[in-house]
Amino acid sequence: MATFDVADYSGLRGTPCEFYSPPTIDSLEKFVRKRPHVSFRIGAGLTGVSGGAVPLSEECYIDVSQLTRIEWYDQKSGIIQCECGTTMKELQVFVRNGGWEFPIIPGSSERATLGGMLACNGGGPLSLKYGKIGNAVLELEIMTASGERFLVGGKSNKVSQGIMDKSIWIGSEGTLGIIVSALLRCIPKLPDLHYYRIASDDLSTLMQSVPQWLQYDPYVLELASEDALKFSSKSTENVIWAAFSKPLNTDILASSEFRITSEAPSTMEERFQIGHNLQNYKPFVDLDVSFPVKHAAMGVANLSKLLMDGSFEHIVFGHAGDGNYHIHAFFNGAKERETWEVVQTEFDQVVLDFDGSISGEHGIGRVHRDRYRKCASKWQKNVYKSLKKSLDPENQFPSLF
Ligand SMILES: Cc1cc2nc3c(=O)[nH]c(=O)nc-3n(C[C@H](O)[C@H](O)[C@H](O)COP(=O)(O)OP(=O)(O)OC[C@H]3O[C@@H](n4cnc5c(N)ncnc54)[C@H](O)[C@@H]3O)c2cc1C
Repeated sequence: MATFDVADYSGLRGTPCEFYSPPTIDSLEKFVRKRPHVSFRIGAGLTGVSGGAVPLSEECYIDVSQLTRIEWYDQKSGIIQCECGTTMKELQVFVRNGGWEFPIIPGSSERATLGGMLACNGGGPLSLKYGKIGNAVLELEIMTASGERFLVGGKSNKVSQGIMDKSIWIGSEGTLGIIVSALLRCIPKLPDLHYYRIASDDLSTLMQSVPQWLQYDPYVLELASEDALKFSSKSTENVIWAAFSKPLNTDILASSEFRITSEAPSTMEERFQIGHNLQNYKPFVDLDVSFPVKHAAMGVANLSKLLMDGSFEHIVFGHAGDGNYHIHAFFNGAKERETWEVVQTEFDQVVLDFDGSISGEHGIGRVHRDRYRKCASKWQKNVYKSLKKSLDPENQFPSLF
């Protein structure tokens, strides 16, 4: 059987022992049923930055990107059921044509799939207003490694029948089973938004201003450091991009210590080009940290200092309104990678000291598994292991622990 290299945006690459891309969910079921002891690795858009879809040599890689059927759409109530390989862009275009919006718009929309986003509990700029993708889920269809299929969640908006079983799968990163399709709730079309670019020479002051902007109920509140902007506009200032349903009061604009300009929606390109353009610069590790907003400025400042002390070139950008920052640390060679292995323990301690998490939306994957193992509590480990034992008893999917 033909097999070839699989790589995502983490820098990892792997050659599986077998490769299969099912054209239908039924054919996927037949395939896994015939392989009761085979190790599987699930992948789709391969836009992940944590290596969760990159197979080991002993694993069979299942590419679910061909499962793209829109199974059902209730245009009157904005409820849609899609197969897992549907890209976020396809989903958005489809529901917009019907007068609705799907509010999860990652920078990787063109290729990131519904299943991949659910598996990582991904988000985007509008997650500040509408939450991450898990919030939009009504029901999921799951397939286990043995080919068993079942539904979790429910078709109604409100369900209080015991624990929320659908949550087990949101963020499970292809380690418990395959999310083959999802029933999702759309939101009404967005209002016309007023966009602003808020600039400062001082990153820390700008980051500390985030709670102040949150008072005006923004739909979007993104931030990038001057260093990050070398991958887009090359502007020599630190920037927040904010969008509100009403224009900001002129008194606020006049009294602000920042340089604020009213902008067209296309101003967001300055932010989104960063993620795409940094890919070919140098090898990097994507540190997708997340803090309570009140601690984020101090947390990120301490992490930056740690990286600077270790002479790591790095940039900061991300979803400031949610306290979620992508710190990209670049490697100039193998020696720096080795140093990073040492620094990361201290890095993670700073994250914990400021009540943070090591991933806000990109997941654990293969890249951050050791870090996660150290950070997770005994309770988290026990719950995960119990789930793994009952849902994947033959350990056919990879494990987070
Ligand atoms: C330029 C750029 C911008 C990005 N912007 C954002 C952003 O704004 N927000 C955000 O959240 N992320 C963002 N990402 C990260 C990435 O797009 C997300 O992590 C996305 O969820 C990955 O989806 P995918 O289909 O590419 O999954 P893959 O990379 O193929 O897989 C990712 C993980 O999901 C699992 N998986 C995939 N499909 C399934 C399935 N059907 N069932 C079970 N498990 C499955 C895999 O096993 C793996 O663990 C960005 C990445 C890039 C490169």
